[in-house]
Amino acid sequence: MINHWTFRCKAVSELIPYCEIVTGVPCGYVICGASGDLTHRKLIPAVFSLFRAKKIPEQFFVVGFARSVMADSDFRQRVIDSLQQAYGEIAKTEIENFVMRCFYVVGSYDQDDGYRKLNEKLEELGRRFGTEGNLVFHIATPPSLYATIVSFLGKNGVVKRHQNEKAFHRVIVEKPFGQDLKSAVNLNKDLLKYLADEQIYRIDHYLGKETVQNILMFRFANQIFEPAWNRHYIDHVQITVAEQLGVEHRAGYFEQAGLLRDMFQNHMLQLAALVGMEPPVDASAESVRDEKVKFMKSIRSFDLEHLETQLIRGQYSGGEASGKNLTAYREEEGVAATSCIETYFAMKLFVDNWRWKDVPFYLQAGKRLKQKLSRIAVIFKKVPHSMFARNLKDLDPSPNVLFFEIQPRQRTSLHFQAKVPGAKMCLAPLKMELDYRDVFGTKMDEDYSTLILDCMLGDQTLYWRRDGVETSWKLLTPVLKKWEAESQEEKERMLERYAGGSWGPAAGNRFIEKDGRHWIVP
Ligand code: NDP
Repeated sequence: MINHWTFRCKAVSELIPYCEIVTGVPCGYVICGASGDLTHRKLIPAVFSLFRAKKIPEQFFVVGFARSVMADSDFRQRVIDSLQQAYGEIAKTEIENFVMRCFYVVGSYDQDDGYRKLNEKLEELGRRFGTEGNLVFHIATPPSLYATIVSFLGKNGVVKRHQNEKAFHRVIVEKPFGQDLKSAVNLNKDLLKYLADEQIYRIDHYLGKETVQNILMFRFANQIFEPAWNRHYIDHVQITVAEQLGVEHRAGYFEQAGLLRDMFQNHMLQLAALVGMEPPVDASAESVRDEKVKFMKSIRSFDLEHLETQLIRGQYSGGEASGKNLTAYREEEGVAATSCIETYFAMKLFVDNWRWKDVPFYLQAGKRLKQKLSRIAVIFKKVPHSMFARNLKDLDPSPNVLFFEIQPRQRTSLHFQAKVPGAKMCLAPLKMELDYRDVFGTKMDEDYSTLILDCMLGDQTLYWRRDGVETSWKLLTPVLKKWEAESQEEKERMLERYAGGSWGPAAGNRFIEKDGRHWIVP
């Protein structure tokens, strides 16, 4: 392991940054599935943070809709609990001003009654808070309910298809969007019966993170990187998304999905697209999404006869971290004792276009790994000839690496070689680092805040488009189908075990090492 000297970037304070400060417009925010975990941990804190920062105006309200029986007061208590959990102590006036805008309607997702009550409530609140009929719906239920909820919202006139109205009705649909290509196509069709495509916001919360958005700025607002951003200068790209946690309380969902569906189809492919796409003609949602889809279409299909050369599947066994024993996946609550669901994968992708021909994109993701980490590494080629090798005999200078780190810290860093003062000839790798928190000194917007505000503003740039979702499923579905059709014996054979708290199975390392490369992990 090489130790890098680090020097930090500073914001250039005398320069005024080019900022487009946007604030939301009057609107109501309706959460379907409001009794759930996502609402509690993410959505309520996200809208509160927007409201507190005055990014959404006073003409605003929140309505929770779900089957659990609750009065407004019960829901408000949950809202307070969520906020305290997320932000600690908050000034009483701030909480009160937010909580008096929170309401709750009880209803079954597949019966008209609840939707009628919801409609009446939204009309009344629209008048009371002056939201001009604008509504954002967030469907935060299990995926099997997305189509049902949208159909009942549509049939009962709660959501209206856009036809040049002044007011907007927009619907955020949670991930996962489909289970495979067929179900994603069907879900799109079902939603489009009641909504225009411009009203559908298919969310991937990773895209709301500042460092992820920074990839676009980094690539397309700087001249110096683009000339080297291709097969002539880049050796390969690595994307690692590691979680320390295991399956936790989500075994019911995870046993049906597995990590490939959960991580690859959405987050990882989006990250790969941001690194690999061509420059869009402008920053509009359509232009950016056109380029992402083009990139995804250029990814070479998996060779199903030789999957093991492109894809490793793993599952965590028991392990140990900080002196604590870690449970094996098969022993987790709600997991079948013979489950062959993958909790880790490593993958090699090739992108068949002029820019990336023969440049592998290595992706790995896993649960119960050593450390929480989401990071893209762009590894440049080594210098073609090292003129210092005569003096420094064993010199094999490490290549330049550009990191976009997304979690746990949000930072961008460039590793390069430099002379160490003193000795006549002494080279060492240095790290130039932009740490968002250090440089900009503020707490950054949560990913959901960014995305919910974008939806209120009608900006779909960071949301998936229909063809993007379908293209990504098209790539992945044949692999999933092949695995699912295998016998239990074959599934067991293909599953690589790894100790909980490690960096994944040995096969995941061999997989990249046979190409003469290695995973760059901390
Ligand atoms: P929950 O399992 O907590 O479900 C949300 C609500 O949906 C529940 O409170 C319940 O409300 C209702 N519900 C649950 N199961 C059923 C059922 N079988 N039939 C009818 N209603 C049901 O989900 P989450 O809040 O965790 O997630 C919501 C969505 O967001 C999911 O699609 C998930 O994939 C996605 N997501 C979640 C993340 C998270 O961290 N939780 C992260 C990223 C995405 P009630 O019974 O009151 O109607």
